[in-house]
Amino acid sequence: MTTRLVHTRDELRSAMANRSGEVGVVMTMGALHDGHRELIKVARRRCKVIVVTVFLNPLQFAPSEDLSRYPMTLDADVALCAEEDVDLVFAPSVEEVYPAGEPQVRVHAGPLGDVLEGASRPGHFDGVLTVVAKLLHLTSPDVAYFGQKDAQQALVIRKLVRDLDMEVRIEIEPTVREDDGLALSSRNARLHGDNRRRALALSRALQVAQQAAAGGERDAAAIAQLARAQMQELQVEPDYIELVDPEDLTPVHALRGDTLVTVAARIGEVRLIDNTVIIIDGDAEVATLLP
Ligand code: AMP
Repeated sequence: MTTRLVHTRDELRSAMANRSGEVGVVMTMGALHDGHRELIKVARRRCKVIVVTVFLNPLQFAPSEDLSRYPMTLDADVALCAEEDVDLVFAPSVEEVYPAGEPQVRVHAGPLGDVLEGASRPGHFDGVLTVVAKLLHLTSPDVAYFGQKDAQQALVIRKLVRDLDMEVRIEIEPTVREDDGLALSSRNARLHGDNRRRALALSRALQVAQQAAAGGERDAAAIAQLARAQMQELQVEPDYIELVDPEDLTPVHALRGDTLVTVAARIGEVRLIDNTVIIIDGDAEVATLLP
């Protein structure tokens, strides 16, 4: 079966019209890598029809951010999708998605959109949820797959479909990493020279947090301090490193149940994020999710 590339909502509608069976969608901003590939593989195993969207959404970037430097590799993206037996790639233009210009009505992420990434990037999650809602309407999937790499995004999308009664299942898949621990990201292509090594500060900080918890440390501030010190060894100052409740992103002070450790930092020109979940089962058993 061949992968079809469509650019307009009319083409999408007619390409979907004669398909039957469960539809899975993977939404991306392009520059596909093995993290995206893994989402596509999971979708391929579980659904009959797979749609991958490739859309660099201006609404979720502030004017000062790196939209214009975001890598665009549509031919390679379509080739990757063909390797994974994707049925349809929907790669609309900005005008196709926002025909009347910037939408006046948007989805508001609420308080969950104001913390962590949202505090550093005001309005970001409103932009994300607005385009996710539109792409869900346009592709009408049964299931949509997202990555744990963007944990806060995954959480607000879960809330979106629950709070607005959208008929779609949301599945979150684990973060795919390089062998040395760096979380795959389209932005990694812009890490040059020593910055590639310094980028390990994020995953190493998360490892240190996991190890501290495994060693019995339960004080969140102490764990955050150890993680921050680990980053500073690579001359990286985090935008934030926080331990929060994975369900509502409220700060955790003493670790009891599952705790999301989430970090963001600028490495040269490139802003990276990463996270891990410390799982405390009973007294002191800690699952390590990082390599
Ligand atoms: P993006 O193209 O960065 O918007 O990402 C599209 C989807 O791929 C989102 O659901 C991301 O969470 C997911 N994703 C990005 N990087 C990874 C990764 N390293 N592992 C797993 N999923 C990822």
